[in-house]
Amino acid sequence: MTTNQNEIELIKSELEKVKADFKSIFDNAVEGIFRTTPEGTYLMANLSLAKIYGFSSKEELLVFFSDIKNQLYVNPCRRDDFIREITQKGLVQGFESEVRCKDGRIIWISENARVVYDDTGRLKYYEGTVVDITQRKQAELALEEQRVYFQQLFDNSPMAIVLINISGQIININDAFEYLFGYSRNEISGLYNRTILVPHDLLHEIEFMRKIIMDGKSVTKETKRKHKQGHLLDVSVLGYPTKINGHIHGIFYCYRDISERKLYEKQLSHQALHDSLTGLPNRSLFRERLDRAIERSKRRADYYFSVIMIDIDRFKRINDSLGHQYGDQLLIQISQRLANCIRSMDTVARLGGDEFAVILEELSHPREVIEIVMRMKQLMEKPFDIFNHQIISGASFGVVLKNQEGQDGDHILRNADIAMYCAKELGQGCFKVFNKKMHSKVIERMEIENDLRQALQNKELELYYQPIFSLSNNDLEGFESLLRWHHPRYGMISPNKFIPIAEETGLIVSIGKWVLAEASHQLKQWENHFYSQPCLSISVNISCKQLKDPYFVEYVAGILDQYQIKPYQLKLEITESIVMIDVKSSKEILMKLKQLGVILMIDDFGTGYSSLKYLHEFPVDYLKIDRSFVSGRSSKDGNWEIVKTILALARNLGLKVVAEGVEKQTQLIQLKQYECDEVQGFLFSKPLNCDDANILIQRYL
Ligand code: C2E
Ligand code: MG
Ligand code: MG
Repeated sequence: MTTNQNEIELIKSELEKVKADFKSIFDNAVEGIFRTTPEGTYLMANLSLAKIYGFSSKEELLVFFSDIKNQLYVNPCRRDDFIREITQKGLVQGFESEVRCKDGRIIWISENARVVYDDTGRLKYYEGTVVDITQRKQAELALEEQRVYFQQLFDNSPMAIVLINISGQIININDAFEYLFGYSRNEISGLYNRTILVPHDLLHEIEFMRKIIMDGKSVTKETKRKHKQGHLLDVSVLGYPTKINGHIHGIFYCYRDISERKLYEKQLSHQALHDSLTGLPNRSLFRERLDRAIERSKRRADYYFSVIMIDIDRFKRINDSLGHQYGDQLLIQISQRLANCIRSMDTVARLGGDEFAVILEELSHPREVIEIVMRMKQLMEKPFDIFNHQIISGASFGVVLKNQEGQDGDHILRNADIAMYCAKELGQGCFKVFNKKMHSKVIERMEIENDLRQALQNKELELYYQPIFSLSNNDLEGFESLLRWHHPRYGMISPNKFIPIAEETGLIVSIGKWVLAEASHQLKQWENHFYSQPCLSISVNISCKQLKDPYFVEYVAGILDQYQIKPYQLKLEITESIVMIDVKSSKEILMKLKQLGVILMIDDFGTGYSSLKYLHEFPVDYLKIDRSFVSGRSSKDGNWEIVKTILALARNLGLKVVAEGVEKQTQLIQLKQYECDEVQGFLFSKPLNCDDANILIQRYL
């Protein structure tokens, strides 16, 4: 062998080796490798490609695909795209398409390919590599799906969402944000988040942002934000850090409009602290403010406050007689007038019923309080126009000028109450400034009230009897029963003192029943002892609370029956003012009593409201002229004119008249001259206990 031949052999063997190497690379390559005709027929394919497409050998693949465009590509147009791109650029890189495998499975592939030309420059074939990217593609698709979902969630969320970057600039907002804050996406993008913050809250907001970033998780709070128009919105906000690779890139703020709930909460708390009728602060809020005033006065030597307790005169009567609608309107108008008398720092509250209270703050002199009270008093005395009715009310005021050291709210309120109570005792439309002496007076009253509850059981009540005489024949007509209370400590207590308490507490109903029974029993006794025929009468005072008792008429009927008294022997004395306050219901009840046959008298006539026009509508038999006209301090000549007028009026209406309080002979002469029917008074006898009354009867037998 020549050297040349040897070299040729060597080259041949080298070539064979290279061929074998390339074949091995071709056969064992991870990527699929192919060569196709420009029409799309496989000329060559490696095992990897066969496997990618689901074939067991390359031969099988070569036989199977005769037309790649229609057999391989799920979307045949993809092959056209491939041809277009490779023709234009001479190659394709990362060309992705969906292809169908042998078993029908659809996978994603990515192709790199180039054009191969022959020596003449004509397109010979395409060759390239294929990678199965199905997994990556699926992951990408899943990611894209998620992105779309999140975008939809962001766009359509009912929560207003804003994304800000770490420097606080607004990156994106959703529709709900546009709607809630009034900004369009274009307007607000790029602006700083503080655009919607409330300026004086900035410090809190920085702290809120810091917390979100430091904690790295969501943080919520309720706060206010500024609308584009400038008004504030109540919102709940959830701040959430956005992280990429563990690093915080910005914050999502999700807002919910809670204005409605806040308004509702505000209303609820307003309701809890305000009186629903008048809108004034109620007792709880009043106490809160009082406690604050007390605290302030402890801290500041120059701070004075004053508390005024106000009770509306005649309110109960107006409410009972005209109805609650009128009462409510009156309270509303009263509250408005009171509120007009105070300064913005003061408080006027309705503590309940017809009870109002005021705290005056930052006072420099007690005179200021008195001036305000006088103003209130005057305003309360002006007539109120309620449903076109003129109503005159007035109020009593109890004032605590300065709080004593160490006194709490209860103490101050109690003292104001005491002063008010003392003002009421003076009469209507008065005011009293609290002093320590008042306290013992009130304690006494409270004791009386307590003891009165036991008085009936303890048999401390007794009836006295004051005789009544006929002026025409000087005969003893009968007696008025007058209640006496033998108090174990205070001795005999006047009915003027304890009857009002009994009325207030409602005890009068049971006491009144006892009086009626006791007086009737006594009358029967006298008859049994002294007379064969019923001729004496007994007058019993009836309080307004008793008249309101729905069983009262029944009770009276029962008493007549039980003690076998002729109805005309029982005279019921009803005070004028009671009857006149509620004309309609008084008329009804008096009618029912009248049907029983008892005698009805209007007591203390001339002192009350006296709507004379109603008098003839009442089924009454007697008028009792109040003693102030007969023997009172004011019984001057003018009062005799009144007596004369009352007598004339009674004549006209066919009523009889009793004059009470006859103390002097001259008065008796006058009354005789005016032809008064009956008289009663100290001139004849003081009220007597039962034994003394017996003696008196014997004298007149
Ligand atoms: P009233 O019904 O007008 O009774 C007359 C009052 O005048 C009695 O006072 C009587 O003692 C007094 N009086 C009678 N004559 C004279 C007189 O010549 N001069 C003076 N200065 N006073 C005279 P009393 O007993 O203190 O009763 C006061 C009021 O208490 C009664 O006024 C009546 O409204 C009420 N009251 C008394 N007992 C009862 C009762 O059982 N039930 C009710 N609801 N009220 C009663
Ligand atoms: Mg009387
Ligand atoms: Mg009287």
